[in-house]
Amino acid sequence: MARIIGIDLGTTNSCAAYTDESGKVRLVPYKDGSSTIPSIFAVDDKGNELIGHEAKRQWQLNPRNTVYASKRLIGRNYKSDVVNTMSDVVAYGMKAGEGESEVLISAGGQDFRMSEIAARILGKVRTVASDYLGESVEKAVVTVPAYFTDKQRQAVKDAGELISLEVVRIINEPTAAALAYGVGKNIHEKVLIYDLGGGTFDVSVIEIRDRVFEVKATGGDIFLGGLDFDHALIQYVLEHFKVKHQVDLSSDPVAMQRIKDLAERTKIDLSAREVAPFSVPFVTMTSEGMPLNIDMEISREDFSTLTSRLVQRTLDVVKRVMDDAAVKAEDIHEVMLVGGQSRMPSIHERLTSFFGKPPSKAVHPDEAVAIGAALYGHSLTDDTNLRIQLLDVIPMAIGLEAAGGRFHEVFERNAPIPNARSITGTTSFDGQTNLAMRIFQGDSKSVADNELLGHFLFEGIESGPAGSAKVEVVFDINVEGILTMSARDAQTGKKMTTNIQVRQN
Ligand code: AMP
Repeated sequence: MARIIGIDLGTTNSCAAYTDESGKVRLVPYKDGSSTIPSIFAVDDKGNELIGHEAKRQWQLNPRNTVYASKRLIGRNYKSDVVNTMSDVVAYGMKAGEGESEVLISAGGQDFRMSEIAARILGKVRTVASDYLGESVEKAVVTVPAYFTDKQRQAVKDAGELISLEVVRIINEPTAAALAYGVGKNIHEKVLIYDLGGGTFDVSVIEIRDRVFEVKATGGDIFLGGLDFDHALIQYVLEHFKVKHQVDLSSDPVAMQRIKDLAERTKIDLSAREVAPFSVPFVTMTSEGMPLNIDMEISREDFSTLTSRLVQRTLDVVKRVMDDAAVKAEDIHEVMLVGGQSRMPSIHERLTSFFGKPPSKAVHPDEAVAIGAALYGHSLTDDTNLRIQLLDVIPMAIGLEAAGGRFHEVFERNAPIPNARSITGTTSFDGQTNLAMRIFQGDSKSVADNELLGHFLFEGIESGPAGSAKVEVVFDINVEGILTMSARDAQTGKKMTTNIQVRQN
């Protein structure tokens, strides 16, 4: 059977792993010796498309046509809070796709759908892998944050389809990390995965019983990641500069790009040392033409104070997920750190005091997810009884809009998947011949605060008095967390099945 590679499609960086002939999992190395490829796409002034390192290298000079952190936008409605907040932060342009059900990004005078951008990044990872392996790569297990909605998962699958890469299975990043930790060790443990990457935060409590990986509860924050830690430092530097020189640099895109780059590098430096310089020479000029510099020093302690609230937000999610899983700190055998931002020392300290023991060093924070995906991909090609069994859950409730904008829950948060549930719908006025539903995912009682997944329309109900029709509507969530809906009219026997995603094509 053809090889199935594992791809970690990250907000900041992506990477791939594969299983070699001897059954060992390895990362696919890239030119510069590292195995990560920046998840960045750009169009240069000649109209050439650049992906990965090439795109990152020209980012400072071409911020408007350089698309980064696009994973935060994939599968989102244009009107969602996430899109709103992102449009304040990024330099590239965004606009509404058809029906506002998606976001389009403008780069080099062209509009791209989010799945097209993800397709380019996946395509680059695939090319690097196939060049290295010397074979064509047609199948992959791709990881997504546990907190991804149904619609976001579907968008990743679509991205694969656009480049004829079969995404054989989508698995959750924390689950993949648990696989990297537990496969082949014959352990029976409960572990907590703390996954703080560039853009999102995920937590899962997973019970490992040899080759069975059962997610007990999962949760996260789709708007909490390394970029927010950078942002805290950027704001601090801007404030400091404003007080010192009475100049607001926030409206100067070139200065902002230099500050952003340095903020991230300084943040990373501060994970290894106590103090780091923060200097940007000639960042701007006064009205008299005098050059101004940023010349500061940031201590680890300052940075830890600046970001203390962000770390607290992660701990609040950890507590909630542990409550959902009905476990206490002492029930957790190991706390596994995943994602680049989890390297920050103050995160280690706060987790150590929360759990009464330091986090595990058993998995590499940048590699565990791709490795877990590759292990799972390999197990799918394995005919022996070494198959890995994943028992996952949905991260947020799924349901439909009820009267007055209320959210009628069909699946509760952390419902196990695969799963199917049905409801019986009826007509609410005389002569009504169709049933229209809006499907949402989220944890709020009001649909306005949840994410719209799509519309479901069942037509052809026999005309009759209100309440006379009986339509059984089935919600079916597959192992990947993707929803399909079907309906059947009990009187006419008419049936229909649909993928709930709102499609444009
Ligand atoms: P990921 O999405 O897992 O690649 O995580 C990338 C994020 O981790 C980015 O925001 C990086 O700035 C951040 N990061 C990488 N290395 C470190 C480090 N040593 N200390 C703190 N943050 C880091």
